[in-house]
Amino acid sequence: MKKPFLTQEKANEIISKIPTPFHVYHEKGIKDNAKELLNAFSWNKGFKEFFAVKATPSPAVLRLLASLGCGLDCSSYTELLMAEKLGITGENIMFSSNGTSAEEYKFAVKLGAVINLDDISHIPFLKEHAGIPKKISLRFNPGGEFKIGTVFMGSPHEAKYGLTRPQLTEAVKALMAEGVEEFGIHSFLASNTVGEEYYPELASIIFTAIKELTAETGAKFTFANLSGGIGVPYRPEQNKVDIYKISGGVKKHYNDILVKNNICEVKIFTELGRYMLAPYGALITKVVHFKNIHREYANVDACASNLMRPAMYGAYHHITVLGKENSKSSKVYDIVGSLCENNDKFAVQRELPKLDRGDILFIHDTGAHGFAMGYNYNGKLRSAEVMLNENGSFKLIRRAETPNDYFATLEGFWN
Ligand SMILES: *Cc1c(COP(=O)(O)O)cnc(C)c1O
Repeated sequence: MKKPFLTQEKANEIISKIPTPFHVYHEKGIKDNAKELLNAFSWNKGFKEFFAVKATPSPAVLRLLASLGCGLDCSSYTELLMAEKLGITGENIMFSSNGTSAEEYKFAVKLGAVINLDDISHIPFLKEHAGIPKKISLRFNPGGEFKIGTVFMGSPHEAKYGLTRPQLTEAVKALMAEGVEEFGIHSFLASNTVGEEYYPELASIIFTAIKELTAETGAKFTFANLSGGIGVPYRPEQNKVDIYKISGGVKKHYNDILVKNNICEVKIFTELGRYMLAPYGALITKVVHFKNIHREYANVDACASNLMRPAMYGAYHHITVLGKENSKSSKVYDIVGSLCENNDKFAVQRELPKLDRGDILFIHDTGAHGFAMGYNYNGKLRSAEVMLNENGSFKLIRRAETPNDYFATLEGFWN
């Protein structure tokens, strides 16, 4: 059974100050999980998690993770700006973008971020616009089919990201000629993987490339970036992955492929988003109407613009009715938002306790790729975000948008 991190009483206390809908984050959950990750990889000197900002671009969350020793993985100019505003600069930033603009490269180099190059053609481009730094990462796309599949990414063969294996050799040689002294390899082949085999398999691919490239070019590789992709149990029958098992699998390949070949100083980096945050955020929304036609619908005051995953991927998000945690699921509902789009459904034919108007729904696992994917379709406004602190108090960490925010970009239009 999935347990909400918020009681009905606490939810009502927050709602008395901050109207629904809003996303709420669980500070203690985020901290405990992050510490466990760092502990699991503590065998690797220099291990570092660069939290994928795109998953939860909320400064309070980013600051919390930074205080635990995490860096940030940025993918755009604005995300770099967010890191800078938080005082997170230099090698605490991994800049993993694609189709990157000159402006973005300039800013990344200015901040001293580690640039993760997505294409070989970007070597002269980076040189021309920002200069080639001494340390650089290359994104590897091994192509082919990757067995540990995913609905979000497709197979590597069809993925737009990264350099091919022959291009890696060529790129390393070209970058050495430009004075690069330290290299890393990054790869991201699957998303939301729920078993323990993904990171070890990916690590073996990256470590093998590092071993071969070291032999071919004599370049010095100092980090291997396993990127994101570890999943979370969205469904009640799933279990959390065993991060120690994952780490142990990576360690085995590390020793077999790198250490045995005298490559001993490679730091492991990760850019986890979902694993770090998804279970520690929830969307809190209120039941506002019932509608009984061919099916029974419960309308809530949130909509897909607050949480797009169900509409976009048909993703499952568990729902708990606060105060009815122990009631029998005796009715079947479609839980729907108010967008003029029929995919605006948080749950389809879901068995739930009998709902009443005003019931508070706790939509689980919205801490990553939740608020972040928000949009303004139908003139809907982005919700507030709240942090439930470790000591039980709560804090508004982002106010809800108002119509003024919606109209702000039309400044000067009306006169
Ligand atoms: C999206 C993304 C991540 C985070 O992915 P999760 O599936 O949330 O762990 C990490 N790195 C890069 C480059 C990404 O695009």
